[in-house]
Amino acid sequence: MEKGPINALFKGVGASGGVAIGQAYMVDRSRVKVVYQYLLDPSQIEPEIERFKEAVNQADLQLHQIIEEIPEEIKDHAGIIDSHRLILRDRMIYDQTIELIRNEQINAEWALRKAVDHSQEVFAKIKDEYFRSRINDVVYVSERILRNLTGKKVENLADIQGQVIIVAHDLSPADTTQMRLDNVLGFVTDMGGKTSHTAIISQSLEIPAVVGLERITQAVSSGDWIIVDGSEGQVILNPDPETIYNYQQKKEKLAQYRTEIAKYSYLPAETQDRFRIKILANIEFLEEIPTVLANGAEGIGLFRTEFLYLSQKELPTEETLFESFRNVGRTIAPNSVTVRTLDIGGDKFASHMDLAEEMNPALGLRAIRFSLKEVDIFKRQLRAILRASPYGKLKILFPMISDINEVFQAKAILKEVKDDLIEEKIPFDPKIPIGIMIEIPSAVAIADSLAREVDFFSIGTNDLIQYTLAIDRVNEHVAHMYQPLHPAILRLLQQTVEAGHRAGIPVAMCGEMAGEPLYIPILLGLGLDELSMNPMSIPRVKRIIRMASHNKAKKFLHKVMTLKTTEEINAYVKQEMFQLFSDSFGINGTMLY
Ligand code: PEP
Ligand code: MG
Repeated sequence: MEKGPINALFKGVGASGGVAIGQAYMVDRSRVKVVYQYLLDPSQIEPEIERFKEAVNQADLQLHQIIEEIPEEIKDHAGIIDSHRLILRDRMIYDQTIELIRNEQINAEWALRKAVDHSQEVFAKIKDEYFRSRINDVVYVSERILRNLTGKKVENLADIQGQVIIVAHDLSPADTTQMRLDNVLGFVTDMGGKTSHTAIISQSLEIPAVVGLERITQAVSSGDWIIVDGSEGQVILNPDPETIYNYQQKKEKLAQYRTEIAKYSYLPAETQDRFRIKILANIEFLEEIPTVLANGAEGIGLFRTEFLYLSQKELPTEETLFESFRNVGRTIAPNSVTVRTLDIGGDKFASHMDLAEEMNPALGLRAIRFSLKEVDIFKRQLRAILRASPYGKLKILFPMISDINEVFQAKAILKEVKDDLIEEKIPFDPKIPIGIMIEIPSAVAIADSLAREVDFFSIGTNDLIQYTLAIDRVNEHVAHMYQPLHPAILRLLQQTVEAGHRAGIPVAMCGEMAGEPLYIPILLGLGLDELSMNPMSIPRVKRIIRMASHNKAKKFLHKVMTLKTTEEINAYVKQEMFQLFSDSFGINGTMLY
């Protein structure tokens, strides 16, 4: 086969850091492309529904088989495949397909495609990247059913021979868990973002991955040499010897760097002049707890509870929620776990919650606004958290506070739940700390009043930046304007920390900014008490903190606050960091991950 151009560069999203050099192994996960439509006679409808149900049962069996065969080392991820088994019979796919076969008298393949296309439209409107990307699970599951309907063979990934870089349109957790992972050097996919399963799994396995490359599968063939640079989010196809040599150097440097920073996992995050800051982890799934512990987190600073509501068809019961919170609390004790109440609503997906479509979902009925409207759902979650509180050190965090009345109302509901528990003689921690996310500019403006009502603040920079700069955090067209070092953002952060400290409460940060090495001197200078981040970022953040000086960081911040433009600030921060940590920078001047 004719080779393409030498050193062809593809840019995507760096989902898991590191460099891999090797030959491509194409995994054909493209959709079962051609699906034909035909109309049924009335007498064919029930048999067609049976044929569909049979294909679903078969898919269920296949997934069950995959779970059974998962290697021990990644058993933790079986939960995701379990959630795929649930999707098989989700209303969106299962019931809708059956209804379409019956009402439109069409064949099962066509009806299923139609149901999935409809779900894709619904998901596409979801603001939150994580939830929006869950459509990939739905598509994956439906493709499996389609294959069963059309009799197409499902590739057996356990057969991969030799060490290869997997190149695929998309990979599901079932695909990854089937692979002999010791044979996988890297992952490259057309689809996916930072929160896709490929990203989550490759990070926890420390396999370099670049996702969201859009059309790389059209350019690569099995056997082609490729370089995956997960740190820079790029892939080089047909590299020449000099490029291979350069990347080998980078790979070695990175390996040395990783060995070096791993030592910092269990050391306290304390600066040279003895300023102590706590480093905690953000989680979405219980499966992440081993990674949290392995990276030396001093607790969980943000447990995003939305996933508990998405992995099943019905709303989770109080018992299910209670068990999840008790598990996390127990495992992380004596360290604390900050449980954020549901940050869902508006157009965010949850098929069992009857929500209207909204023009501006980011500004709509989401998070605390949703909880204050759907009081029963809110109370159920609060009850579960309170009931779990004696088993660990739990804290409650309310998201998206924009007005002090929301705090009054949330606290009043919490009190009602506590009173019920007292009456029922169910134990809970009466002093459970209550905090709020500071992620809307209006909350910063009234931070002094809010601080008197709560026990702690946690700054959500992901949303704070979005709402302050009016930049949709998931819109790729304005992504370049999403600037954490915008002077306006730095001022808001400073105001929040000062207001919190004046009222005597700790101030944490749990947005992505907290885990970004480049920003650490600024965050130290601000005097934040806690930083909560992706667990994999912890060692490198601790290393930077341990080499830094709090006094110098304060002076550094002082100077930063005098600069007028984001560009000046970015350049100054990079220059200072380069001087301090030149060994942490890669060949292109970006920080190594
Ligand atoms: C944030 O907004 O910074 C945050 C941590 O919350 P989420 O990313 O879940 O909105
Ligand atoms: Mg947020």
